[in-house]
Amino acid sequence: MDVFKNVEKQINKVSKIMDFDEETEFLLKNPKRQLTVNLSTRMDDGQVKHFVAHRVQFNDARGPTKGGIRFHQNVNISEVKSLAFWMAVKCAVVGIPYGGAKGGIEVNPKELSETELESLSRAFIKAIHPIVGPTKDIPAPDVYTTPQIMAWMLDEYEKITGEHHPGLITGKPLELGGSLGRGYSTAQGGAYVLREMSKEFGFVPESTKVAIQGFGNAGLNMARILDGWNYKIIAVSDSKGGIYDESGFDVPALIKYKKEKGTVVGFGGDEITNENLLELECDVLVPAALENQITEDNAENIKAKYIVELANGPITPEADEILHKKGVFSGPDVLANAGGVTVSYFEWVQNLYGYYWTEEEVNERLEKIMVKAFSEVYNKAKENNTHMRNGSYILALERILTAEKLRGNLS
Ligand code: NAD
Repeated sequence: MDVFKNVEKQINKVSKIMDFDEETEFLLKNPKRQLTVNLSTRMDDGQVKHFVAHRVQFNDARGPTKGGIRFHQNVNISEVKSLAFWMAVKCAVVGIPYGGAKGGIEVNPKELSETELESLSRAFIKAIHPIVGPTKDIPAPDVYTTPQIMAWMLDEYEKITGEHHPGLITGKPLELGGSLGRGYSTAQGGAYVLREMSKEFGFVPESTKVAIQGFGNAGLNMARILDGWNYKIIAVSDSKGGIYDESGFDVPALIKYKKEKGTVVGFGGDEITNENLLELECDVLVPAALENQITEDNAENIKAKYIVELANGPITPEADEILHKKGVFSGPDVLANAGGVTVSYFEWVQNLYGYYWTEEEVNERLEKIMVKAFSEVYNKAKENNTHMRNGSYILALERILTAEKLRGNLS
């Protein structure tokens, strides 16, 4: 599936409300810069292997571009372009001074040794270093990339420039200038969005059943935070499959099991597939894995009343309309998972100042930004009698297009 087609459809939908002219539509549908490179890496057996990698900088009207790097066998330019566009929208939704970018390597990292992973990470930064930097484009982690990978990339960049530049990349280990709270900030931001929904619609954690698809950085931390707030986590999954227990899981024990075994499967409860998980009887569904999970084929079967999109692009434009008609309220990805980039922004600010905040300061500032963004998106959606995704796009695109006009890039 060509993911960027979904982006074009999303822009067309918003165009019906905002009435874009031809130049505006062109600017919104075409990245400012995209680079595809061929990386050669020496494997442990002495052979050299090649990997295709991309960096897309979609829009930089509001500031340097910002976005993660994904290592996955299904990475392709259409996906990277889509993720870069969504980053531009996301940064505008939460009002942080960044444009949007994304990167990815077409590789299954689970097949690489630690030394091969390090060589590949360094090769990527060597190849893209002319277009990234603390005032140009600031990468971060995404699917299957970690603080250790950010550390290798930072080190490679600093070896090339001969200077220290901790603001090059975010999601770093604390010892190299990472921010307290960054490790779980995507989930923390999503939890604040869910809390705002619960205030708006009057539900309480104790009687709210949650199903989470994906148990990595975003999904695992969401389970941990919501369990701490007394929500009942009744289903979780990862790439190997899922588990379900209507009475709720012992989340700390589940996390320990996942860390030991590398999967949630086998922990307990009934075994289910990732597809079954989406259609379970629950109150809140949290897609926290990959894109295109809820489509026109299964949207009708979704039973959750609320969705918190921690993954990027988990719901297709067709499914958005079906869910909206069914009365399902979804906190869209560009709002619900914006906690990650917001704390990445805090990390960059701390790096530029060389002055570091406490974890409480980070979370207080994150909370303020997420609460304000939720209310701005909610009001925008209500004003335009539409769903939260369109509301967030209208808010973000107004901000991006105003910046483009002020720069003289649009009439
Ligand atoms: P991660 O690599 O830490 O975890 C990914 C999880 O998804 C793993 O549990 C993996 O087993 C699972 N998974 C992979 N393929 C799957 C499949 N087909 N079905 C079900 N589960 C599958 O990645 P992450 O950082 O948690 O990212 C997850 C999602 O959140 C992505 O869409 C990412 O773009 C988005 N996101 C992450 C951040 C962040 O800061 N990490 C920020 C914003 C958005």
